Amino acid sequence: MKKEQILEWLKTDDQEELEKLWRQSDKIRRDNVGEEVHLRGLIEVSNFCARDCGYCGIRVSNQDVCRYRMTADEIMGCVQMAVNFGYGTVVLQAGEDYGISREWLCDIITHITRETNLAITLSLGERDESELIAWRRAGADRYLLRFETSNRALYDRIHPPLPGRFSDRFQILRNLREIGYEVGSGIMVGIPGQSFDDLANDILLFKEYDIDMIGIGPYIPHPGTPLGMSSEEHLCLSGEQVPGTELMTCKVVALTRILCPLINIPSTTALATINRVEGRVHGLSRGANIVMPNLTPKKYRELYEIYPAKASCDENADESNSRIKNSICAMGRVIGVGRGDSANKKTKAV
Ligand code: SAH
Repeated sequence: MKKEQILEWLKTDDQEELEKLWRQSDKIRRDNVGEEVHLRGLIEVSNFCARDCGYCGIRVSNQDVCRYRMTADEIMGCVQMAVNFGYGTVVLQAGEDYGISREWLCDIITHITRETNLAITLSLGERDESELIAWRRAGADRYLLRFETSNRALYDRIHPPLPGRFSDRFQILRNLREIGYEVGSGIMVGIPGQSFDDLANDILLFKEYDIDMIGIGPYIPHPGTPLGMSSEEHLCLSGEQVPGTELMTCKVVALTRILCPLINIPSTTALATINRVEGRVHGLSRGANIVMPNLTPKKYRELYEIYPAKASCDENADESNSRIKNSICAMGRVIGVGRGDSANKKTKAV
């Protein structure tokens, strides 16, 4: 698909045309990754963060956040729940927390790989290459790092680097692949200042970088952040601003599936947050094949407030698990068995 065509889809409101897009992306999903929906248990291990991202509620300068870091025992308790629920993967996510040391995490990874068959995904921000290598050697399988937007000027505005460093998430994504991780990335849809042209470029880059997993969520303003407090002044002019709506997010999911048929695409928590009733199901019926149920202990969930009113904050792991499984089965889809490695990566390894 050419950029012009992507732009046409992003800009159309024609319901009948969009039904065609949904049908096409759903068929491509079915033909390439099947009816299985793989579940990844999300463990939000820490909300400490060294970074000051303009969009994120747990940014270092948000003084209102009560900070926590889970203990190894607490993490292993969540890992056990993932096993009990039959999940194939655990995702360890956190702010960019340098209190999470290389050795401490190596021990936890080793523990998980000794005691379970789970795949391990890490999502810990822009860590040093030596740490990424050590964690891969200890047994981590995948790494998630969204590039958030491919517009460099916009990225620089919302994602200031650590002092004396340069933040190049594309370079890190290349390194992650070299190190042998299955690589996940993604974007937010509707960042103030993000144009339709930017969004079309993002989608084309998913394909160009041959990423194995792409997470796509709407940008949700957080009142404790600079971007959330003053988004008006950053908006693109003359109809070029992308709205952070459910519809726009679904269009990006559908187009991504069409361009990258074999990859894993989650129906994100952010999508489920802006439409509590149907967001998750819409994502799954328009191209997505992954859901990440939350395993974080309830007392920490609400403290991991990257954006407000995050779906799943009002329930515990048991409740999230059964609600998500029921809705997948009600769609006539099947709960994935096993690790659910990316079909994209397997193809390349042969
Ligand atoms: N520290 C890790 C994990 C961040 S949380 C990292 O930086 O990679 C995971 C994702 O949540 C981010 O990559 C971002 O795309 C998303 N996110 C953060 N703030 C958000 C907001 N206000 N609205 C929607 N998504 C947000």
